[in-house]
Amino acid sequence: MKVEQSKLNEYLKKIHGSVCPLCGNNHWNISDQVFQAVEFDYKGILIGGASFPMVPLTCDNCGNTYFINALKSGLIDPPDPENPSVTKSENEK
Ligand SMILES: [Zn+2]
Repeated sequence: MKVEQSKLNEYLKKIHGSVCPLCGNNHWNISDQVFQAVEFDYKGILIGGASFPMVPLTCDNCGNTYFINALKSGLIDPPDPENPSVTKSENEK
């Protein structure tokens, strides 16, 4: 899944001036792709387990990477409660 460029730009403005705790640089790159962390299980990947949508934010200088919660940050829309496999805006198209 991709994030709209306008939402990425808005987010980067919000964190403007934040310095990397590892190297002191303040130039960040944010991915336009959403990744997900899935719930760990000793037996392997859990189908239908909990997951967490995230967008990597990487320091331009040293590569230090944060994983930003794509829902909490507003980078992606929340799912439509009546049809959780799509967002509300996708459902209205
Ligand atoms: Zn850094």
